[in-house]
Amino acid sequence: MALGVYLSRCGGLVDAAIDVDEALANVREVAAVACVVDDVFDPIVVAAIESDIREGGVDAVVLAGNSAEHLSKSLSAGHLTRRLVSAGVNPNRIVVANLLEQVALAHPGDRIGATRKAAGIIDVAALFATMSPEVESIDLEPKRSVLVLGVTTEAMIAAQRLLQLGYEVVIADRGNGSATAASATVLKSTSAFVRGHARCKFIDGARLVDGDGWLGDYHIQIQSNEGSRRIVVGGILIARPDSAEWVAELREHFRVDVDDDGFARPLDPHNHPAETIDPGIMVVPVRVDGTAHRDKVAAADSVAMALVLRLSQTTVSHYGDTSAVDEALCGGCATCVRTCAFGACTLDENGRSHVDVRRCRGCGKCVVSCPVGARDIVSSPHDYLIEAVRSLSRVPVDVGHARVIGFLCGGCGYPAADAASEFVAQRGQGYPVTFMPLRIPCGGRLDTLYVLEAFKVGFDAVCVYRCRQGHCHNLIGNLDMDRRINLLRAVLRSRNIDDARLRIVDISPTEGERFVESVEEIYVSIASLTNGKGAAV
Ligand code: SF4
Ligand code: SF4
Repeated sequence: MALGVYLSRCGGLVDAAIDVDEALANVREVAAVACVVDDVFDPIVVAAIESDIREGGVDAVVLAGNSAEHLSKSLSAGHLTRRLVSAGVNPNRIVVANLLEQVALAHPGDRIGATRKAAGIIDVAALFATMSPEVESIDLEPKRSVLVLGVTTEAMIAAQRLLQLGYEVVIADRGNGSATAASATVLKSTSAFVRGHARCKFIDGARLVDGDGWLGDYHIQIQSNEGSRRIVVGGILIARPDSAEWVAELREHFRVDVDDDGFARPLDPHNHPAETIDPGIMVVPVRVDGTAHRDKVAAADSVAMALVLRLSQTTVSHYGDTSAVDEALCGGCATCVRTCAFGACTLDENGRSHVDVRRCRGCGKCVVSCPVGARDIVSSPHDYLIEAVRSLSRVPVDVGHARVIGFLCGGCGYPAADAASEFVAQRGQGYPVTFMPLRIPCGGRLDTLYVLEAFKVGFDAVCVYRCRQGHCHNLIGNLDMDRRINLLRAVLRSRNIDDARLRIVDISPTEGERFVESVEEIYVSIASLTNGKGAAV
């Protein structure tokens, strides 16, 4: 495996806080290429990486700089990823080492500590890039049709734009949508256009009762006044995010990340005001009363166009970020079938577990529940997570300083750690630099083995960050860990490890201040503990 590591200065912010060459020192021993660049999105840098891939045989890439969340959402990052994939790197081997938000901005004024931590995070990213299996792509032609949920002024504007651009539109409403649209006091011409259009259908009395899919190909079962029907669309626009019923159904069947108040929870609200966690499912911003008409038009129009931008591609490639089954180990006990909240697991005719990749969300619950270790997640393999814990334990700390590992759920803890950098900037003081972050896809992915390993290799405490109740984007992944953690606490006590050294923090993605407070609290709480840690396991 030839690894290429590209450390971005991020406009000088990274090298102002850490010694970039020192941070690369470890990985230079194993990487074919390890260099510092000004900006990883610079076209000249992109071309240089492509050249390394094509001519130097690089087949795993670490991009050290911005947060993974930034890279998963930003359009320029999407462009960069596509270029690297087309040059020949499997997307599962393009990995981010978050040096900007979670090191450089989080630990101002501690250049030595931040540099050590940066090196540790780069090493973990290198492990990910080289240990992760390749994923196969499933390519499809996106359907040029959109389901609009609910009737609002903005929904009608978005529907009009979609129809004008040649899309089919299905408007599902809990009441009588066509009548609601007709009685709109504004935009009578828009309403008439939409209601009279040959490619527009209204479904009244609608409920979403089942569904699966992804950008370009969503299959949705709808119960309505006319009975049950299955529709296939390329994307979904949520026009009534304030409807608790729609929100509950979307959460249950599509994992749409909308909170109880109906707001989409994008990680970067400035760049992506309308996109949910699933590409192709967007929220039409419903403006409060008194919003200028032109603002409503602009908001609805921009969401419709954002969806069109995604659906107008000739091919959409989906890479299965899913659970995989080792058939040689699977005994057909069906525990995973009962565990999976998305109905993604079934037993095949041979009595072996089978994963429906269109339904699987990669949450990892089935992995930790399988009694024989027959499951793994393609994007967070078990062996990688164990090695990552060991690798982070080797980051040097000054004598007398505690070291803590944080398992950060990708839906809440990881973005909260990103948001912490803003809080740090406001108060002008970082949190303990010996806190080592490790991203996991969901709280439900946390295997007790990772916690035990962390104590075994010398961490003084383990902190698990999971979504608040009712906000888990995998429904109950956050709660699923409780049973295991309770058992684990008993195991820790039996090993003379105070279970105060294991802490679970419920957090929302934007709670940067709470993230910092929680990290500092655990350092305070373990300072007075004298009994066991690490080697006692
Ligand atoms: S839990 Fe494991 S052994 Fe049981 S059916 Fe699922 S994959 Fe097979
Ligand atoms: S990873 Fe989660 S969604 Fe996928 S099969 Fe396992 S439990 Fe179901």
